Amino acid sequence: MRRPIGKGARTIRLEVRKYVPETQDFSMAAYEIQADPFTSVLDALIVVKERHDRSLAMRYSCNMGICGSCGMVINGKPRLACETNIFSLGVDTVRVGPLEGHPVLRGLVADFDEFFQKHKSVTPWLVRRDPAEKFHSEREYHQTRRQVDQFLNFAHCIECGLCVDSCPVSNTNPHFLGPQALSQAYRYNSDSRDEGEGERLDSIDYMDGLWGCEYAGACSEVCPKGVDPALTIQLLKLSVMRKRLTGKTGTDKREK
Ligand code: SF4
Repeated sequence: MRRPIGKGARTIRLEVRKYVPETQDFSMAAYEIQADPFTSVLDALIVVKERHDRSLAMRYSCNMGICGSCGMVINGKPRLACETNIFSLGVDTVRVGPLEGHPVLRGLVADFDEFFQKHKSVTPWLVRRDPAEKFHSEREYHQTRRQVDQFLNFAHCIECGLCVDSCPVSNTNPHFLGPQALSQAYRYNSDSRDEGEGERLDSIDYMDGLWGCEYAGACSEVCPKGVDPALTIQLLKLSVMRKRLTGKTGTDKREK
């Protein structure tokens, strides 16, 4: 534990569902820990690991909602353990398990290989038509406040995978590109420095890509960064239809 337990402490029962690869099954264990009004689920799990079960595999790093490593299912909902205050859950029994929409490697650690492959498939970087310019850059690319506002909210994605875990389509169709990758396609399409929108729209225009979304909206509900992937998917559908009908790319990213 990184700090002593303070005033207002009470006992919380922490039930941990962890994956055991040796048996290819899950095991359950329960622990009683002391929590105060500032204790997060990640704090509680660190106590479990330090004092009760050193074999508990978990992934975390920054402890401040930036790295996106500590995503897990907490009381039935995908959340970041570091950003989930135990008392805010309003119950004395907290159930924790690994993400369910991703394969699980061990304990509470999910496998993100497929997730990052899908992310990479939408070309999540700025594309320039003249690739040589990066070797002899002669000017800066200034953006107005309005141009930055076009993409900034969607650039806050920390790749935690919670949106994919909450998505009913991703959970039933492993081929679905998923809300994270699609939101990042929109993020780069709406950046005035990018020139890859046409190719990016083509790369997501298929049934298990953009058109797999059934607009459940759960992705936007669980996103800890307010990225709103559900909105970006609907805006991408508009851009793809405009491109199909007119041949033109449609994301509004230029200063008028
Ligand atoms: S869009 Fe939100 S929930 Fe999805 S990976 Fe990015 S930060 Fe996490």
